[in-house]
This record gives sequence, C-alpha cells and structure tokens, in this order.
Amino acid sequence: MAIDKERAIEFNGHNCSKENGFWLLAGCRFHGKMRTPMYEVKIISDFAAAHNLRNFRGRCENLHGHNWKVEVVVRGDRLDDAGVLLDFGELKQATRDVLQLVDHQYLNDLPYFKERNPSSEYIARFLFENLSARVNGDHRWVHSVSAWESKDSCATYYGESR
Ligand SMILES: [Zn+2]
Repeated sequence: MAIDKERAIEFNGHNCSKENGFWLLAGCRFHGKMRTPMYEVKIISDFAAAHNLRNFRGRCENLHGHNWKVEVVVRGDRLDDAGVLLDFGELKQATRDVLQLVDHQYLNDLPYFKERNPSSEYIARFLFENLSARVNGDHRWVHSVSAWESKDSCATYYGESR
C-alpha cells in the first residue's frame, strides 16, 4: 500500500514502478525515451502565401500574406553506413517538394484548409503530415515542424511523438 502511494505521488503519468529501491525503466514511455540514443537533424526553409482566418477576431481575419519560415526536425536512433541520419540535401528536397503545395497560394482555397483554418498551427500540421509520408523510415521520423509567421511568432506540430 505504501509503495502504491509512492508511485502515485512520484510518478504520476508514467508507467515506472519502483522495486528494491530501483526504478524499472523498461516500458516507461518517458524514461524509455530518455534512455534511447537519439540523433536529431534540423533544416530551415521558407515559403510565401496568403490567407485569412475565419471566425478569428484579430489582424489575421483580413486577407493578407506572410513569409513563413519553416523548421523541420527529424529524429532517429540509428545512422546509416555514411554516419548520417539522413542526407541534408534529401531532407531539403523533400521539404521543397512539400512547400510547393503551399508556396504562393491562397491557402484558404486548398482542400486541406477548407475545413481547417490556415493558421500557422494547421500549416505546421499539414507540412508535418506530408513530410512524414516522404521522410519517415524504420529508424528515423519527422519529430516536429514549426511554422514561423513572423520573426517572433511560431507554431509547432509534433504529431505522434516517438
Ligand atoms: Zn496571418
């Protein structure tokens, strides 16, 4: 009973348990992740587009444009024979391919944004989903995509984190 109480207090939200004074880390999403060797690569790109946000009271309600800066983070736990997680050129090309879908578009007209507002949050998600389909493999995956709509305002989508 005392142990259960301790677990509830000390590890609320984790799957860890404590036996003989040691925390058992296997199977715990949080600690399992912390213990896995992890590599991360990041590239930065950009695109220009127009949008206006529906049901939004603010400056973005009216038609206008942004030059979005896009940050793509890929993580993985294994390098290839060349010692890289993935080639930067390959990631940049995949990102350019996906950005072609939104560059110089009126985002509200795209099918993806008919149901969802073309907010920076949903833009990041759109890019995340399209990039994941192109980049993900057994040992690497798109971890996050951030969309900066100005130099001090950014939204990030993480999807299913691994
Ligand atoms: Zn805007």
